[in-house]
Order: sequence, then C-alpha cells, then structure tokens
Amino acid sequence: MKRVVIAGGGYGGLRAVEKLAQNDNLEVVLIDANSYHFMQTEVYGYIAGNRYIDELAVDLSLWCEGFKNGKVRFIQDRIVGLNPKEKELVLSDLKIEYDYLIIATGAKTRFPDSIKGLREYSFGVKRLDRAFGFRHRFEEAIKRKLDGDSKKVDIAVIGAGLSGVEVAAEMGYMLKRYKKMLGGHTGEIKVTLYDACETILPGMNDSIIDASVKRVKNLGIEIVTSAYIKEVSSDKIYFENAKSRDYTFMIFTGGILGNSEFAPKHFEKNFIEQLKVTSTLNIKDHGEIFAIGDVAEILDQHGQQLPPTAQIAEQSAEYCAKAIEADIKGDKIGPFKGKMYGIFIALGGRYAAAEILGFNISGITAYFLKKVITLVYFLGIDLRANTGFKIRSKKMV
Ligand SMILES: Cc1cc2nc3c(=O)[nH]c(=O)nc-3n(C[C@H](O)[C@H](O)[C@H](O)COP(=O)(O)OP(=O)(O)OC[C@H]3O[C@@H](n4cnc5c(N)ncnc54)[C@H](O)[C@@H]3O)c2cc1C
Repeated sequence: MKRVVIAGGGYGGLRAVEKLAQNDNLEVVLIDANSYHFMQTEVYGYIAGNRYIDELAVDLSLWCEGFKNGKVRFIQDRIVGLNPKEKELVLSDLKIEYDYLIIATGAKTRFPDSIKGLREYSFGVKRLDRAFGFRHRFEEAIKRKLDGDSKKVDIAVIGAGLSGVEVAAEMGYMLKRYKKMLGGHTGEIKVTLYDACETILPGMNDSIIDASVKRVKNLGIEIVTSAYIKEVSSDKIYFENAKSRDYTFMIFTGGILGNSEFAPKHFEKNFIEQLKVTSTLNIKDHGEIFAIGDVAEILDQHGQQLPPTAQIAEQSAEYCAKAIEADIKGDKIGPFKGKMYGIFIALGGRYAAAEILGFNISGITAYFLKKVITLVYFLGIDLRANTGFKIRSKKMV
C-alpha cells in the first residue's frame, strides 16, 4: 500500500485528503501544526464580531476520524524539514516516510522589512490567534465607548486587496449597527483603509472596484490610496511624503509569504518564498512531490501566475489526487489547467460584489450566492467532523 502524506490542513490539504481517501489502496496521513482547520475566507466576520469561532475553525482529528475504517491519520506537529532522497518529512517530534508528498502549507502575512515597526505593531489575519487578538481589541474599544470613553479610536486597515476590503467593510457595517443600538460614543470609532496603489482592489475589474468603493464609503470608511508608508510607531503611521496619521490599532493585509521554510535549499522559490512547480505541480526532478495552493507559484496555461485563493488551492488538490492515482497505475495525466471561475467580495452585512463567469453583480444577490458557496463548503466539513465526533463518542462508551 502506498502512503501519501499531505503537509497542511488548509483548503488544499483537506480537498486532497477527501479525494485520496476514496482510494482503498492508499494510506493517507495529514499533518498540520494546528489542531484545527482555519477557514480564512470567513475571518472578516469573526474579527468584526459577526461570526462565532465554530463558523471558521474545525477540529482536524475529529474531521479525519470521520473517514471510514480509520482511513486517514492525523498528526498534529510542525514540519521542520524535508529529506527528498530518503523520502521523509521531518516533524519536530518524528520523521515520517512517504511514497508521495503533497505540500499544502499555505502562506503567512508578509510584513515588508522596508516598513519599520509594521511587524511589531500590526495584526495579520492569516492566523486564528492574530484574528482573535484583533477581535478582542475591537470589542474592547466598543465596550469602552459604551462606558462613555470619549478618547479617539482610529482603526487602520493597511492593504486594500480582497482581505483588507472585506475586513474593513464588515467592521464598518458592525459599527453602523452598533451606532444605532448603542448610540453615545460608539459612532465615533473610525475605520480607514490604506493602500499604496491608486485604487482599492488593484487588479480587479472596474465594476467590482466601483461597487466596492461606493459601499465602503457608504459604511463611513475613509479610503486613502497612493499611501506609501515608511514607518509605524505604537500610535502613528508615517508616510513617504512626510505626512503622518494617528491610529489606535492596525491590521495588515498587504501581502503573503509562502510557508516553505522547511523545504531543502535546492527547491526553487520565487521572491515571496512560494515553491516553483512544473506544469504538473511537481517540484522539479521530483515526480513524487507536489506543491499546491498558496505555498506554490502556480501558472495558468498562458504562463500567468494564478492568484492565491482557496479556489485554486482546491483545484490543484484535485489535480494532484488524480495525478497520484494515475502514476500508481503507470499512467500520466496532462498539465494542470487551473482557472478562476469567479471572485466574491463580502462588503459588510448582506452585501457583496462579484464577478462570476464574466458577469458582474453586486448587492444582496451577490451576497446570497457567496453565502451558498460558503455553506456548501462548511456543511461538507461539518458533516465529516460530526461523523468523527460520533465515532469517537462510541469508542469512549
Ligand atoms: C480575509 C481573507 C479572505 C479571503 N477570501 C477568499 C475568497 O473569498 N475566496 C478564495 O478563493 N480565497 C480567499 N482567501 C484566500 C484563501 O484563504 C487562501 O488562498 C487559502 O487559504 C489557501 O489555501 P491553502 O490550502 O493553500 O493554505 P491554508 O488554507 O493557509 O492552509 C495551510 C495549512 O498549513 C499549515 N502549516 C503551515 N506551515 C506548516 C508547518 N511548517 N507545519 C505544519 N503545518 C503547517 C497551517 O497551519 C494551515 O492549516 C481569503 C483569504 C483571507 C485572509
């Protein structure tokens, strides 16, 4: 029986497990540093206090127990090295051998060293503990305002890509709601969205940008574009043009860095530490090692890099599962043909903007479409975790 080791229990890793676990001739092992799968795509709602923790985190060992006959083994440990010659992955506590390895370790927030103080004073959103810290600060600010504190609260969101806009919009929406219900000083909390580009959502189409700018402004959020930040102190943002702004707390969503530090030196990487892969998503000269999702630089058929999204992570995972099954049979499959089918941006409350198969929509319709996609994903994960919970409870009786 061949063993497939999947490094990372994010969107790509879980989809790979689901596909490979259907094959009775494979042993599947999932490894993650955390005990839970973190649904980053829903983090904006959690930060703003509009979602609960069980709507964006699922216990990975329960989820793995949900597969029949204990088919999937979960190991919670940090991957610290990889010996391709010996075909073994090095964890902090043990080494595990593989026949095939899928690297799906995702990415972390990239805090540019050129901005002094940024790493020290800002929160990222790609880790649950950081999101938790920010949510706590946000709720604390609201509580203080409710108690009558008149001190200024300025929340800075740095980086107006998809995640920055979603986080800012949801906070703006919640603040508007609180203002109505709680009154007093709660309406004085201000959210500002900063980006170095000339527009928010750089790279997206004009229709999405226009709908998002309109909505974000309606929610009372200030947009500051062409904002080149030089330095950040505990309460001030300093710009290249010698101007500065006060802030109370800050979230940074300006970029990503692939989680590939454990990979051997000879594995090629791009400038943001993503592993370079072949057209079949393999590490060069290693047909048995795949890299998928945010940790990989994945190109489309025209040689353009595909964006780091859950959508591409899942498509690349499905491809790897097929490639591994074909390889075992002595077959080969063609190159990976990843494609973005659409993009959704949650813009606070029941409002979203989307581009689906070339059509642009915004408002409540886009919101409900996004909600359906999220629900389908969540229900799939939840069902499996529930089965795991039942199996475990029976064992304990
Ligand atoms: C606010 C926000 C909104 C987003 N919205 C969307 C959206 O609407 N649509 C969309 O398609 N995408 C969206 N994304 C992007 C999407 O979340 C990512 O592209 C996706 O999570 C990538 O999946 P992945 O499997 O590659 O990595 P991840 O989901 O990041 O999972 C990686 C896993 O690897 C584990 N890991 C990392 N390093 C190690 C190690 N050394 N040892 C052991 N385990 C390790 C981590 O703990 C983690 O569980 C959004 C992202 C954010 C932050």
